[in-house]
Amino acid sequence: MGNIDLFDAVIAAAGNSIRMGADKVLLPVGNDSVLLRTVSVFYNHPKINRIVLVIKKNDFDSAFSIIKALDTERFRIVEGGDSRAESVEKGLSYCVCEGVLIHDGARPFVSPKLIDSVIESVLRHGSGVPALPLPDSVRKVDNGVITGIEDREKMRIVQTPQGFLLNEIKAAYSLRGKELFTDDSEIYARFIKPPAVVNGEERNIKITTLGNYFGLNSNIGIGYDIHRLVPFRKLILGGIEIASEKGALAHSDGDAVIHALIDALLSAAGQRDIGCRFPDTDPAYRDIDSTILLSGVMEIYNAKNFKISNVSVTVIIDKPKLADYIPLMALKLSNILGIPKEAVAIAAKTTEGTSETVSAYAAVIIT
Ligand code: MG
Repeated sequence: MGNIDLFDAVIAAAGNSIRMGADKVLLPVGNDSVLLRTVSVFYNHPKINRIVLVIKKNDFDSAFSIIKALDTERFRIVEGGDSRAESVEKGLSYCVCEGVLIHDGARPFVSPKLIDSVIESVLRHGSGVPALPLPDSVRKVDNGVITGIEDREKMRIVQTPQGFLLNEIKAAYSLRGKELFTDDSEIYARFIKPPAVVNGEERNIKITTLGNYFGLNSNIGIGYDIHRLVPFRKLILGGIEIASEKGALAHSDGDAVIHALIDALLSAAGQRDIGCRFPDTDPAYRDIDSTILLSGVMEIYNAKNFKISNVSVTVIIDKPKLADYIPLMALKLSNILGIPKEAVAIAAKTTEGTSETVSAYAAVIIT
């Protein structure tokens, strides 16, 4: 088991979304759809080979438009069956690697790290199922009364991706007959052996109701920065050099827009601020291009599967006027942040001649 280099991924997205009343995998999350967000995590993971998307026939056009910007050779699009089990079984027939991960299309917040630990478990034990402890007590209820008390310590909430050896999970599926199963680990447990468990992730929720779709998993962040304006320094804002008699006095390039933005992004992601991450006592950051620091923050975002919905910045400086530079700044930032330029709003204000500084406020919403 120890030497499987690549895994295929089956994304089960053919459900009826009965509780949503809308096709949940096509709903937007920030600037993406749920499905694109889910697919991207597997697509960008170095251990994932083929991605088998099991969807409803009605969603074929949407799925093609979602993957057309990617390497379509790596995808197989398969029409789902009447049940999840039937859909997954069809998907498995398109897999070619020795190992496979099976994932719910409606879990867009899965992280690359969780994929890593499921894969590691498959290599060690032949299977890997993410699970979380229960936040509340559990009771067995029959006819409106409690009839049993489960030991909560022994109970887990099961998530996906669930990883298996392809031949074993296919064998389990072929044996399942007419029995109803809720997930792959149940089928595996019934016909192969007890599957191994790995730690699940709180953020890796399954979108099942409109209630947990709207607003859930979105975080807000705010940041601020200020630099004194002095002669013989460049003025760089939003990664763009601006013609100016004075520039920002700073250890780095003094880009107040990017520094405010970095603090907004770090705070939204629950991280310490820019001074902790990139200390100005560290010679490595002397005169550093702040776009490099911002790209470093985006690496944290990618590792955690955080995405930016939109960014709003206010820059405050008396001279020069920034109006002509704002579209360039928005374009530059949107490229680094991986979002449309329309999702980056920048406003410019003055201090009415009361200050020899450049400062910026930034706010972000992320999912
Ligand atoms: Mg600064």
